[in-house]
Amino acid sequence: MIYRIHQLKLPLEHKPEDIKQKALTFLGLKPSDISDIFVFKRSVDARDKSRLCYIYAVDVDCNKKPVKRFRPNEAEVVVPFEYKLPEHGKKALTKPPVIIGFGPAGLFAAYILSLSGFKPVVLERGKKVEERQKDIDTFLNGGRLDPDSNVLFGEGGAGTFSDGKLNTLIKDRDGKGRFVLKTFVDFGADEDIMYDSKPHIGTDKLSLIIKSIREKIVELGADLRFESRFCDFDSDGNILKNLKYIDKNNEEKIVETGLAILSTGHSGRDVFELLDTKNVSMQSKAFAIGVRAIHPQKLINENQYGTYADQLPAAAYKLTANLDNGRSVYSFCMCPGGYVVNSSSEEGTLSVNGMSYSGRNGEYANAAIIVNVTPEDFEKEGFGNSALSGVEFQRKYEKKAYECGNGKIPVQNLKAFVEKRLCNDTEASDIEGIKDKMIKGQICFSDINDCLPVFVCESLVKGFENFDRKIKGFGADSTVLAGIECRTSSPVRIVRDESLFSTVKGLIPCGEGAGYAGGIMSAALDGIKAAERIISEYYPDYS
Ligand SMILES: Cc1cc2nc3c(=O)[nH]c(=O)nc-3n(C[C@H](O)[C@H](O)[C@H](O)COP(=O)(O)OP(=O)(O)OC[C@H]3O[C@@H](n4cnc5c(N)ncnc54)[C@H](O)[C@@H]3O)c2cc1C
Repeated sequence: MIYRIHQLKLPLEHKPEDIKQKALTFLGLKPSDISDIFVFKRSVDARDKSRLCYIYAVDVDCNKKPVKRFRPNEAEVVVPFEYKLPEHGKKALTKPPVIIGFGPAGLFAAYILSLSGFKPVVLERGKKVEERQKDIDTFLNGGRLDPDSNVLFGEGGAGTFSDGKLNTLIKDRDGKGRFVLKTFVDFGADEDIMYDSKPHIGTDKLSLIIKSIREKIVELGADLRFESRFCDFDSDGNILKNLKYIDKNNEEKIVETGLAILSTGHSGRDVFELLDTKNVSMQSKAFAIGVRAIHPQKLINENQYGTYADQLPAAAYKLTANLDNGRSVYSFCMCPGGYVVNSSSEEGTLSVNGMSYSGRNGEYANAAIIVNVTPEDFEKEGFGNSALSGVEFQRKYEKKAYECGNGKIPVQNLKAFVEKRLCNDTEASDIEGIKDKMIKGQICFSDINDCLPVFVCESLVKGFENFDRKIKGFGADSTVLAGIECRTSSPVRIVRDESLFSTVKGLIPCGEGAGYAGGIMSAALDGIKAAERIISEYYPDYS
């Protein structure tokens, strides 16, 4: 029988064997009374800055009933749930399903379908991760932006060149979340992502892991077509018949299929536009925009961990404030020891994001500090109430950012932002001196107030004041801001019914772009859900 002990406190400097000893003492058992013990969760308890400790949840496989009594909130019997592929359905599927977009959603959909013998076709507009890296390096060093191969587009999707944070708010009732983490571990991630409360992989490792998963998917028989941009589809009545794509020779090709998982991410704007012209039901949805704020990691560590700052990995934070003007300001996608990166995907527009390497050992921390924007805001700005009004709103401000920075990332310090002016020479040269330690991409000293709506800028100023009370120094004059952060989640939801189909039967909107996920983990989980939907209705019969 497995007992899960929820809260074992251990000092930061404990040895691995101390966990077992503490668990045995808690249960009142001897080492010979248990057959196994493993860590289920680990987090740092930093509430009392004078006594930081680790809190573990551990699973103990006991041969004997525990001697000591405990309350249900202290420990409980658990039956670990192992994810199992669904059984095939009863209908014959005569043409392989197609997955459009090979980000976390498409990748996990492809993996699950491949494990189930479906040999899917995958259409991905971008390149394999190795070649994609070269295009990104060229762009970040001042070269041209490839609209099909960049930080957002290409193998592994937007998540590949990220921080690789794997947290999600979704409750893991059926073991799928652990399956996703285990898959990353099986293909090269460190074991600790299975139990760390804030798991992360880092872009250096993630790109290798994505490559290994791709190789496995190919080995299982999937047909991966890179540099293949989905551009149209035909339907018979409202039933999907085929998909069209442009290949790397710029030729239009057709794949016949009645089932396609559409996982093209929140930046596949041409896909949204196509669906709109084809009257596929979509809704505009709220998202958030703002800036990336950059602070010395040391400042964050000292605030979060006090005198223990040097004993722990780079600290993260999560901040939120509800303002009197009815807006929320919050931190998002915080990257400890990371870099701000130019993550534009469309010519003439500019947006930033954050990434980090596995060691998270950069000298600076960055996070998006963003303000919620709603379909009412898009309408007020003259974009009407169509499904694409949020896309137009995003585009407007991304164009402003591009113009403001002359194609480079607009940058200023917080003091200049508050005073609505450019950095003076001293402030600019201070930032120039540390630029390579905190930003990947070319920068231009600009006034970010010119790139964002007035209400967003006013809310940001109030947000920084509020956050400075929570993290001392957060609102320091020298805080570096890089703009603009705009692609925080999809501005569109593609409607799907209870069978997961869009208004075109057979077309399954999936992942972040479709409005059903917000991050690597939730996108991967939605990809699994879409694959399971196909498996449980069909069996492959392509003879
Ligand atoms: C720099 C950066 C850092 C991030 N950091 C994190 C993080 O640490 N943790 C986290 O949880 N999330 C992070 N995110 C967000 C995360 O990457 C996304 O939530 C996630 O990738 C969404 O997965 P998806 O599969 O739904 O879409 P995407 O990852 O956007 O993938 C969509 C794929 O579809 C392809 N595509 C688009 N249009 C077409 C077309 N017409 N034809 C064929 N293919 C097409 C694209 O090339 C892309 O590969 C980050 C994002 C960025 C940009």
